[in-house]
Amino acid sequence: MNVAPKRLLLLTSKLGYQARAFADAARRLGAEVVFGTDRCHQLDDPWQDAALPLHFERPAEAAEEIVRAAALAPIHAILALGDRPLAAAAHTARALCLPYNSPESVETARNKLLQRECLSAAHVSVPQFISFALEEDLERVLPRVAFPCVVKPLMLSMSQGVVRANDAGEFRAAVARIRALIQSPEIQVTREASLGRLLVEGFLPGPEIALEGVLEEGSLQTLAIFDKPDPLDGPYFEETIYVTPSRLAPRALAAVEDCARRAIGALGLSRGPIHAEFRVNSRGPWVLELQPRPIGGLCARALRFCPQKMPLEELLARHALGEDVRGLEREAAAAGVMMIPVPRSGVLEAVEGLEEAARVPGIESVEITTRMHDYVAAWPEGSSYLGFIFARDSGPGGPAAVEAALRAAHACLRFDLRPRLPVEHPLAHRTRGG
Ligand code: ADP
Repeated sequence: MNVAPKRLLLLTSKLGYQARAFADAARRLGAEVVFGTDRCHQLDDPWQDAALPLHFERPAEAAEEIVRAAALAPIHAILALGDRPLAAAAHTARALCLPYNSPESVETARNKLLQRECLSAAHVSVPQFISFALEEDLERVLPRVAFPCVVKPLMLSMSQGVVRANDAGEFRAAVARIRALIQSPEIQVTREASLGRLLVEGFLPGPEIALEGVLEEGSLQTLAIFDKPDPLDGPYFEETIYVTPSRLAPRALAAVEDCARRAIGALGLSRGPIHAEFRVNSRGPWVLELQPRPIGGLCARALRFCPQKMPLEELLARHALGEDVRGLEREAAAAGVMMIPVPRSGVLEAVEGLEEAARVPGIESVEITTRMHDYVAAWPEGSSYLGFIFARDSGPGGPAAVEAALRAAHACLRFDLRPRLPVEHPLAHRTRGG
């Protein structure tokens, strides 16, 4: 007897390489994949993927759309990639009675201020924080700010608009820069709620680490803990190197996992992937953020699980489809990824040194994901990397060798980024010319 394949709903803002990797993994498992996305859908299905067009900033409505579609072809499982579709995923799951996080837990996690308030009320270590509305007089806000601080929007991700300020002058400059970013058409078009407020936090010193995990009935299975060996002292915070296993002492790692569990409990998250970031210092781990989604970009590719060297995307697709993944552990080899930073904003015209970089021992691949001739913004305005470098080491060198390989490969690369020429509107020219 033929059993109908399960249908997995993949919710994502970007139909790029990350979405493809998850879709391919699900299809390899015999599932059908339905995309739901809020990317522009005026054109007739240019991706040929029959994606459901949704508005993630109106999650309850997006869920209604999905429920209507599910009446015609049932949906059995949901995976959300990136922060934007999380609430729509949760509303949909509730409406379709699928196991997933509650809308309330996801909405609290997604909003940086609500997350801080929830965790601090539960006595989970988070930085000191205040928030203010963009229209407030900064001179009235300043007396409440302790330096050094970090200023950030409530709903953006990828460290976009996150800026450190060491004194009042830097604070005013940071707010002006974040305000301009938030008022840009690229951000306004997202229609995110809470764009009119900023969060100000005490700057937490110390090494930063990231935890990847998966939740089942609220219980955390840690899949990997990454060190971020480059100092993240600001003023901007684009990511660079992630290496696993972490070189922190086992006791410190146990404290991080405990902190993650308490944060998950406080937020009320219950099912699916978790990505969390912490600073660790003499007073223990501090939550920077915890989100119910997988690690971003192509980074998932750095993680493989025994015994078949299953990639993270497949593990998460299996879990979403209802399989038990508890026995799966990361392979023994050290692994790492470098998100290639954007040295300055510009139009990418050429990349040199790719072959040399790929030949560095330990390097698995170098992928440039910015398209040639596209403009790419540096942080704090930026939110996408030039590409990714992957390394693995099963020898005695371990994480240190992986880190060294990533640095050596990156040193081979040269990016030709040209300033974007100001484009004059033809009508403006004609008017001036009389
Ligand atoms: P996003 O969700 O956009 O990634 P985060 O709040 O996680 O925003 O901040 C991004 C990065 O900025 C963090 O990974 C960290 O390096 C840095 N950062 C943010 N807040 C603080 C803080 N209070 N102290 C120190 N560093 C911080």
